[in-house]
Amino acid sequence: MTLPETASSTNFIRSIIDEDLKSGKHKTVVTRFPPEPNGYLHIGHAKSICLNFGLARDYNGRCHLRFDDTNPTKEEQEYVDTIQESVRWLGFDWGEDRYYASDYFEQLYRWAVALIKKGKAYVDDLTADEIREHRGTLTESGRESPYRNRPLEDNLDLFHRMRAGEFSDGSRVLRAKIDMASPNMNLRDPVMYRILHATHPHTGAAWCVYPMYDYAHGQSDSIEGITHSICTLEFEDHRPLYEWFLDQLGIYRPQQIEFARLNLTYTVMSKRKLLELVQQGYVSGWDDPRMPTLVGMRRRGFTPEAIRTFCERIGIGKNDSWIDMGVLEDCLRHDLNERAPRVMGVLRPLRVVIDNYPQNQTEEFDAPNHPNKPEMGSRKIPFSPVIYIEQDDFSEDPPKGYFRLTPGGEVRLRYAYIIKCVGVVKDEQSGKIVEVRCTYDPQSRGGSAADGRKIKGTIHWVSAPHSIEAEVRLYDRLFTLLNPGSDKGGADWKSGLNPNSSETLKSCRLEPGLADAAPERRYQFERQGYFCLDTVDSSPGIPVFNRSVTLRDSWVKNQ
Ligand code: ATP
Ligand code: MG
Repeated sequence: MTLPETASSTNFIRSIIDEDLKSGKHKTVVTRFPPEPNGYLHIGHAKSICLNFGLARDYNGRCHLRFDDTNPTKEEQEYVDTIQESVRWLGFDWGEDRYYASDYFEQLYRWAVALIKKGKAYVDDLTADEIREHRGTLTESGRESPYRNRPLEDNLDLFHRMRAGEFSDGSRVLRAKIDMASPNMNLRDPVMYRILHATHPHTGAAWCVYPMYDYAHGQSDSIEGITHSICTLEFEDHRPLYEWFLDQLGIYRPQQIEFARLNLTYTVMSKRKLLELVQQGYVSGWDDPRMPTLVGMRRRGFTPEAIRTFCERIGIGKNDSWIDMGVLEDCLRHDLNERAPRVMGVLRPLRVVIDNYPQNQTEEFDAPNHPNKPEMGSRKIPFSPVIYIEQDDFSEDPPKGYFRLTPGGEVRLRYAYIIKCVGVVKDEQSGKIVEVRCTYDPQSRGGSAADGRKIKGTIHWVSAPHSIEAEVRLYDRLFTLLNPGSDKGGADWKSGLNPNSSETLKSCRLEPGLADAAPERRYQFERQGYFCLDTVDSSPGIPVFNRSVTLRDSWVKNQ
């Protein structure tokens, strides 16, 4: 797989912007990323963040962070905080330009009054169910509400009293007066305001009427002077409404442009579904390392660079499509291959005693931190007569083509000596091998035999007395189902959860330098994969490491 040549590959949105700058329609580019603070950001949001902030960066413009906080019942400060942290972590900065749709509530209210005065909005007393019934279907036009032609003065009075708190939740709404026969359902007198006696994280108890998304969004874009309002394809049918409000109000109209949202295999991205996984205990939280949330991916060991590369690589298009999870994992693998220092860690230890190595001796070997990057330096790793190797690097009854340690056979210990197996010690009761006895070839320091004999296998190891204990968590994909997030998955989507998406290994042994592992530092455990320190569950005594990604994609064969 090749990486894009430049940091900012072209896409159709860039062509639109280039044209607008050339024609003089705009002198600068102002975009926005408008999350609703009702959940954590996920990898789909990252696509939108990289697009919007990336355009602002490349065109020397601005990208606003705007919280679309029009629904107080689901929104919380906790979400505002984590969203900001995730955007920054991804490497983007909104500067001074952080806004809240709720900052505009007063202005939005006045505009609603202006629309009533123009005869373009009315207060409707129908219930939500009745409004739905009147809306009609795709093949059948809607019916007008009996309240649609209320005198203007009554509308003004009722809307004023809605705001004043005289009416109960759901008893009335303000609707735009457009066209109940429109083939576009969004234009069939959409609701602009509903009554909701709820405290808002930002405006407190100031309001008991709240604007709907469609009414708030375009006007917020207009107030902020957004030039290109970029959203996902499902808003294409809302564009005529976006434009209708702005044109009726006679205010500046940004251009709405739609692009295809990110769909990723083997995971779900809807906030509702992610919340369900959290609340029902399928994962340990929003930041569970298996979650496609940015906090989860960060904890797992993803780098912002890998995510940005991924967003570049998948590109921006107009057609909905599915991206394979393997592409995302590959971006991380590629990044960490370049940057992660190599270390040795034994995940399932088997004790090896080297009989002919002086009992109280230890020595150190110099090991490069990266095989092709001498500038990354090297470290000393201690060696002693008792070491640990991986259980599956020894086989008493080896299958054909097994090049690791076998009775009577030789293997190379990475950076150290060639050893030969001379015996095994078994647990009397279970018959399980608990120890392997070896001799070492003193002439093979560094790993090659003095007589030139070929040693096929090289395995990793740690010195038993020097190594540190750690817990290691091996993560795999959250779902075995290819498209759990598709509508076809239906109510049964959770049946596609991968029962083996997490495996915890206790008593792993790592080379001593890992005692100093810092949060956000990633390592390649040689032959095992890429790992990073878990920031939540590590304790000073027992560090916990998360496997960020394997060295190779083991899923390809399953597809
Ligand atoms: P959900 O449907 O899961 O609740 P959302 O789209 O409602 O997510 P918002 O907070 O409204 O979440 O999203 C903020 C921005 O992120 C929007 O502009 C939206 O278009 C964009 N976005 C959300 N999901 C994706 C995705 N999968 N791919 C690309 N952009 C996305
Ligand atoms: Mg949304």
